[in-house]
Amino acid sequence: MWKKITGVRIPNQSPSSQWDITIQDGKISSVDPHDSTAPDSKTSDTLDGGNRLLAPSLCHAHIHLDKCFLLQDPKFKDLQIERGDFKEAMEMTGEAKSRFAEDDLLRRGRQLIEESLRYGVTAMRAFVEVDGVVQLKCLGAGLKLKEEFEDRCGVQICAFAQLPLFSGADGGAETRHLMATAALYDKVEVLGSTPYVEEDEAKSKENVDWITQLALEHKKHLDLHLDYFLDEHKQPLIWETLKIIKGLKWTGNGCKKQITFGHCTRLIRFRKEEWTRLEQEIGELPVSFVGLPTSDLFMMHSPEKVRGTLPVIDMIHQHRLNAAMAVNNVGNAFTPYGNCDPLRLAALGVGLYQAGTNKDAELLYEAVSSRAKAAIGYRFTSLGLEPGQPADFVLFDRMDSGWRCRKSIAEVVYDSGEERHTIFRGRGTFSTL
Ligand SMILES: [Zn+2]
Repeated sequence: MWKKITGVRIPNQSPSSQWDITIQDGKISSVDPHDSTAPDSKTSDTLDGGNRLLAPSLCHAHIHLDKCFLLQDPKFKDLQIERGDFKEAMEMTGEAKSRFAEDDLLRRGRQLIEESLRYGVTAMRAFVEVDGVVQLKCLGAGLKLKEEFEDRCGVQICAFAQLPLFSGADGGAETRHLMATAALYDKVEVLGSTPYVEEDEAKSKENVDWITQLALEHKKHLDLHLDYFLDEHKQPLIWETLKIIKGLKWTGNGCKKQITFGHCTRLIRFRKEEWTRLEQEIGELPVSFVGLPTSDLFMMHSPEKVRGTLPVIDMIHQHRLNAAMAVNNVGNAFTPYGNCDPLRLAALGVGLYQAGTNKDAELLYEAVSSRAKAAIGYRFTSLGLEPGQPADFVLFDRMDSGWRCRKSIAEVVYDSGEERHTIFRGRGTFSTL
């Protein structure tokens, strides 16, 4: 457990200044200009920052814990991509799910969390599917991993209905029954569903209504995978969804739980009036959007082959919405490329959004750090380090990086490098150094 980190550069301060961070009870207790005249304090609880950049840690606002690494795990080696489309991904994952057992769920999930820690992630919203195929197996493994990693990473479990709640042979009855059971677990903090998998719009609305009521009843956050298409002629469900959530009085009785909408690729077709309407209709509702660019770009295109993902920068800057970016899937047919590093998405954002200025790069870092944490229910903080905040950090680069040592958040977003030291509640949890 570190009590002090000395001689670091920090965000929102001149790159030529150095700072000392004091930590108490897992939180920042003070941030002071570096005292280079202080006697050499190399003790076991002081970390020498060596003039490197210390920034708030990273967060997966949206990651699938149970279906990661299916393309790599030997148990599923016969399931390889042949067409690379959404239908095949659903079929392959459905087949894999029918073989899920606790040992492979733990093996793959543990690997995902370990690799995420290596990149500086200390908080995540982990989706585990609940339905007639997997029953409560994924949930059980997710809860075990949450406990196993509790000293190293905050793993928030979302019980998630990827399959319909109102369509199919039994009209979704079994999935609803299992989701209602999952909602009884205290350690399940989030309930989620996928309204777009229902047979028709009426059932999609029923899906939203049912899962929202369940979340309200059990005081859980709500996470919907919504409007995952780009066809301009098809209407988005976001308007009805907001109407249903408001009709159920989400913020009544002092409810402070968050509402998160993932994917929402259809929104990229919005014109200015529709963005203004969205901002107005959300009003005081605690809503965040999470763009999933690697999955969206791979899987989603319009009939005219237009590709797109949520315009995160504009949503924050121009429409005053909270928006984040997340990895979504690692090593499966929905997203076969990419790894567990959220900063790869921030770098992709520089190109996607032509966001090259220092300010834009900082916003992209926020989208995988402080804004991602806010989207899953943590208090929103800026990138500046302040007393009272949790001591959750990433320290970049090696001691001997010389002039290539990253001095600012923008440099990290452009090219984050491989060397990182992850700190969770003041405790070093992973170091490549
Ligand atoms: Zn997802």
